[in-house]
Amino acid sequence: MVQAEQVHKSFGHLEVLKGIDLEVRSGEVCCLLGPSGSGKSTFLRCINHLEKINAGRIRVDGELIGYREHGGKLHELRQKEVAAQRRSIGMVFQRFNLFPHMTALENVIEAPVRVKREPKAAARERAEALLARVGLGDKMGNYPGQLSGGQQQRVAIARALAMQPKLMLFDEPTSALDPELVGEVLDVMKDLARDGMTMIVVTHEIGFAREVGDSLVFMDGGVVVEQGNPREVIANPQHDRTKAFLAKVL
Ligand code: ATP
Ligand code: MG
Repeated sequence: MVQAEQVHKSFGHLEVLKGIDLEVRSGEVCCLLGPSGSGKSTFLRCINHLEKINAGRIRVDGELIGYREHGGKLHELRQKEVAAQRRSIGMVFQRFNLFPHMTALENVIEAPVRVKREPKAAARERAEALLARVGLGDKMGNYPGQLSGGQQQRVAIARALAMQPKLMLFDEPTSALDPELVGEVLDVMKDLARDGMTMIVVTHEIGFAREVGDSLVFMDGGVVVEQGNPREVIANPQHDRTKAFLAKVL
């Protein structure tokens, strides 16, 4: 589903991604770990072309992201084509990013109606089902300010799912939450994984990585230091940097 080959990304003189290779198969959950500044968020943002890569290739479902290849050369896609690619990739951030002046239900309906031009009644029906699925059937009329952080984050997940993405990217979705609210968001993500969604999850929740992850990728300094089966990597890290990092978060 996702293939990244030798992805390089710099901001000015700062090289943040130094040749990332990664493959995530359809239905798999890939957990991305690494110290602050190692390039995890940047890499996620490259996958939906929120950042332009300087070299390498990223494919989602076989389709080259952000570019078209022609005669061995890459040509940038037009804004409209990038937007179409982005629509099939859901993203959930650390901060909830809900529209504050819209209810939970309106937040979930917004993109399908405005972007996909879905009939409002159909979008509403699906939004209700999605909100029920994330355990918020009784909060649909609440504004974000009337929801807890965990509830807001679950609305954000429902909102991303409303676009029927083939891939979901999560960037530390629970790290801004009070500890007692983390579980309810992870449970929704587990449910999604069980349902076969392909997911890349940046997280420091080692328990989640071990239990739900099909693969664990440890990044440091813009490179993949180590990757493998989460249970094996966590139990028996091979590299000193992985060991040191895990010792801190476990
Ligand atoms: P954290 O765990 O703190 O979220 P991260 O692994 O997600 O860290 P990134 O946010 O990808 O790290 O940042 C990697 C590096 O790239 C950092 O040194 C950061 O300062 C730099 N960086 C990120 N975005 C930009 C930008 N738009 N312009 C310049 N530098 C940036
Ligand atoms: Mg980050």
